[in-house]
Amino acid sequence: MSQAEFRVGLGHDRHRLVAGRPLVLGGVTIEFEMGLDGHSDADVLLHAITDAILGAAGLGDIGDWFPNTDPQWAGADSTVFLRAAVNGVAERGWHVVNVDCTIHAERPKLARFKRTIADRIAKLLGISEECVNVKAKTGERVGPIGRQEAMDADAVVLLGRSATN
Ligand code: MG
Repeated sequence: MSQAEFRVGLGHDRHRLVAGRPLVLGGVTIEFEMGLDGHSDADVLLHAITDAILGAAGLGDIGDWFPNTDPQWAGADSTVFLRAAVNGVAERGWHVVNVDCTIHAERPKLARFKRTIADRIAKLLGISEECVNVKAKTGERVGPIGRQEAMDADAVVLLGRSATN
């Protein structure tokens, strides 16, 4: 008899917004006068999703897997981290059922990029586009988000596997 198992995972990340860096969100490069600072490409959204995937499977966090002190990850494309997490959980029988996430950014207006970002994430995860939802919020002009000092991202991921018993 086969019985499905599910696990939920939560991810959160923040990166500082600075001049002279590209803005990469969910694997999509967005034209903007500032970008996110970090050791890798600083894709705040893919980091949150990667953490949610690892968390759901009880596999720690992105810092355990890809230490930001390791020169091999300098300037890294964060899709590498996401794929490694997907492969890591797949080795334990898990697949991603769905992803819901929120980007917190005062500017640029992300409404017109949400579908493009969601489609890119779906492709990276190898799941249907209807299983990825991307939301965007401003910081209401207060706090580090509202003052355009940083961007945050939150993600929840559901993992599933069929257990035979
Ligand atoms: Mg990060």
